[in-house]
Amino acid sequence: MQNDIEFLQRLIIEAPAGIAVLRGPDHVFELVNTRFEAYTRRSKAQLLGRAVKVVFPEIADQGYISLLDSVLSSGKNFVGNAMEVTFTDDAGVDHLIYVDFVYQPTFDAVGHADGIFVLATEVTQQVHARREVESLARDLRLQRDRFQQVVDVLPQGIAIGDATGAITYSNAEARRIWGQPAVAGGVDEYVEYGLWSIDGKPLAPSEIAYSRSLLKGEIVNNEQMLVGNKEHGTRIPLLQNSAPLRDEDGEIVGAVIAFADITRLKELERQKDDFLGLVSHEMRTPLTTIIGNADALTRHGDKLAPEAIASAQRDIRADAERLQQIVENMLALSWVESHREIELEPVLLNRLITNAVDDHRRRFPEREIVVSAASDECVVDAVSSYVLQVVGNLLSNAEKYGPAGDPIEVTVSREKGVAVVRVLDRGRGVPGREAAQIFEPFYRSDGSAQRAAGMGLGLSVCKRLIAVQGGEIWCSPREGGGSEFGFSLALSPE
Ligand code: ADP
Repeated sequence: MQNDIEFLQRLIIEAPAGIAVLRGPDHVFELVNTRFEAYTRRSKAQLLGRAVKVVFPEIADQGYISLLDSVLSSGKNFVGNAMEVTFTDDAGVDHLIYVDFVYQPTFDAVGHADGIFVLATEVTQQVHARREVESLARDLRLQRDRFQQVVDVLPQGIAIGDATGAITYSNAEARRIWGQPAVAGGVDEYVEYGLWSIDGKPLAPSEIAYSRSLLKGEIVNNEQMLVGNKEHGTRIPLLQNSAPLRDEDGEIVGAVIAFADITRLKELERQKDDFLGLVSHEMRTPLTTIIGNADALTRHGDKLAPEAIASAQRDIRADAERLQQIVENMLALSWVESHREIELEPVLLNRLITNAVDDHRRRFPEREIVVSAASDECVVDAVSSYVLQVVGNLLSNAEKYGPAGDPIEVTVSREKGVAVVRVLDRGRGVPGREAAQIFEPFYRSDGSAQRAAGMGLGLSVCKRLIAVQGGEIWCSPREGGGSEFGFSLALSPE
């Protein structure tokens, strides 16, 4: 019997948990074990026979004494999980620990709670570990959100997938290009995107860069292809890079792809090709005439009749001027496109128009041009060379598209604070639906090619040159048939 009690006592003393028994309303220590001493930074000698509030003045503020009071008065136990408690050691240093504990009331013979059995386990390390894990998870979430935000503003599409081929991550640009979210399944399901080589041949899902990285470990750089946009039913040209993702053992666990929408680039390439084709074609015709005539004059000049010589010279001059107009228009276009600052200065408009008309008359002596201008000189804020080029282009169009025998009319007038110049012909006119389009670069109406040579550049140059001078340009039907091409420029302050 004696032995059993000693064994039990030893068990309690050495138990791997803090144990104490408190007695009476003041919670006087009746029993404490080694672990309890260690937790509380007090020795058995300091504890036994003393009231809690006497030994631990520091815990009164922490609510533990009122907790003990309520366990005793209610007779109900209290279980605390990972609760924080600070004990102050003899040297006055605070020690914060976390404990799981139970306050279990003990009862006297008539069933009144007369003491409390305390069982506590320190869980400080676990609490720290849990907090660490929570903070890591928070950091991770934060980093993932940050990554998503950063990647979503990239002008490139990004997609990442796992070993099965399922796309687990895609950014906003990728979804915009596809016109849909990533397809749900693996490689076989990529057909749902719509896949073609850049020249339009259908591609099997396993042939695309991403699948080759995933299945064969290929690193692909700068490969082009077309992908379908589900929303608009269009094909979008892409420039793409892709690479496999590997684990520490080098096993492929997924792949990543970055792709850029190169629609604009392809459009520019096409425009450049069209432009080169057009320029070469437009320049070849006058060049052929010039070379042919120059050859004839050089080889047979001494045998040719004077009229034939004069006609060859006139042709050379006319075609050289045509080339000059093409080059001038191209130069003006690139000048205006480069957005360089221009300086407007007061220009005598009537005189400038007379110069432009004289120049046209010299080139086309058969054409009658009727000029009507306000008697007093209009002074406008402009760049003379730009105005000359605009009027030159409009006259040259009236010449090309107007019937041979009819005169061209040119008027200069003042209207509501601006000067207005009109060039009028009696040609086929411009249908209303085309009135805006003809001012776009390279636009030519159907059938223009049969009527006259041209690149569809003249009116777009006019529009830009007038716009940089702060004016407006328009085309409208002329009463009685034909077209009116007009532009306005601000009058200089008097
Ligand atoms: P181009 O004359 O080289 O085609 P423009 O830019 O000067 O280029 O003109 C664009 C188009 O506008 C022409 O192809 C023609 O269809 C139409 N156009 C221009 N001027 C006239 C005009 N006076 N009458 C009828 N159509 C015109």
